[in-house]
Amino acid sequence: MLFFGLPAAGVDETLSSWLFRCSVSRHVQNFKRIGLSEKPTSWWEGLEIKSIDPDVDYLEASKRFARNMNVSFHGNFEQFFSFKRSDVVDWRYRRFFCPDCLRADVANGRLPMWRKSWCYAHSSICMMHGKHLESLNDASRYSKAWEAFANICNSVPRGDANVGWSGGGFWSATVSRVESSMINCVGGERTIQQELFNKLFGIFLQAPYRNGRGGAARINFYIEKGVRFAAPTSLEHSVSIGPSTADPSSRIGSFVLAAILLDALPLSRYSLITKIFEDGRSGVVLPRDIHLAAAFPSVDRVGYQALRRILGYVPMGRFPLLDRHLQLQQDRYVRDGAFDGHSLGDSAHQQQ
Ligand SMILES: [Zn+2]
Repeated sequence: MLFFGLPAAGVDETLSSWLFRCSVSRHVQNFKRIGLSEKPTSWWEGLEIKSIDPDVDYLEASKRFARNMNVSFHGNFEQFFSFKRSDVVDWRYRRFFCPDCLRADVANGRLPMWRKSWCYAHSSICMMHGKHLESLNDASRYSKAWEAFANICNSVPRGDANVGWSGGGFWSATVSRVESSMINCVGGERTIQQELFNKLFGIFLQAPYRNGRGGAARINFYIEKGVRFAAPTSLEHSVSIGPSTADPSSRIGSFVLAAILLDALPLSRYSLITKIFEDGRSGVVLPRDIHLAAAFPSVDRVGYQALRRILGYVPMGRFPLLDRHLQLQQDRYVRDGAFDGHSLGDSAHQQQ
């Protein structure tokens, strides 16, 4: 999107990112590399809109744009800047980014841009650079792309950025393979598979709840340290916020576990994946059995009922590995005294 005298918005850029760049470079199309090493000093005072979500508050943005830029604006912000997928996380959780993308912006004479493709619950790898996304501690500001660049990309490497997952190209290929497998499913089959995928993805990434350690992918694959969010208020809440609050490493782990159980990746892929992860993390040993690696959370009887509702209906026989997995989880819940007599995935009792 082009306006005379303003920076062109990137095709994948968020609205807040573009507003920030406009505010800095009202009359500047290109920066010198040296000029980008210092934080911009002349950006709009009071720019930060008090919206719940400044990336989608198109009306306030166009008003602010007209007021501050003294430009009459009649274009359609929404058409250009809207998110294309439904699994976008809340504004406060849009904190992961690809350092190489930000570096490329600066190398091209632009202020760094925050990308929409980093803002989804499934975002874990930059498909352009094949790199695992990194995190910014305070991602609440419009200037976060610049801050990520200045604090992380433009300083000495932290050394732990990609620990745990080597071979970004391998991960990009794995993600593409799963996505194409899902797309190739026909009609209703695709819907069933995608819905189950999202449910399993959430269960494996469950945020730590009560005294639990959270979902299996968090227990086995979480790398990020020192980041805490408000405690979930219920088991359902812990699963619903799980993907948003999880780090890219555990998202990859959850993605792989769900994909294997739903036959979108071969089971043989699991041992390869454990080897890659262990090679990057000295001392870490993952369960060799996928059913242990993907174990559902330990719950009491009330928790079991909640979990059963979250999982919903699972068509028996369609995903044999998942059937086996659910049976093993259920056996465990029987032993633990949590089983309420209704099977996981059984359609007859979903409303109970
Ligand atoms: Zn990138």
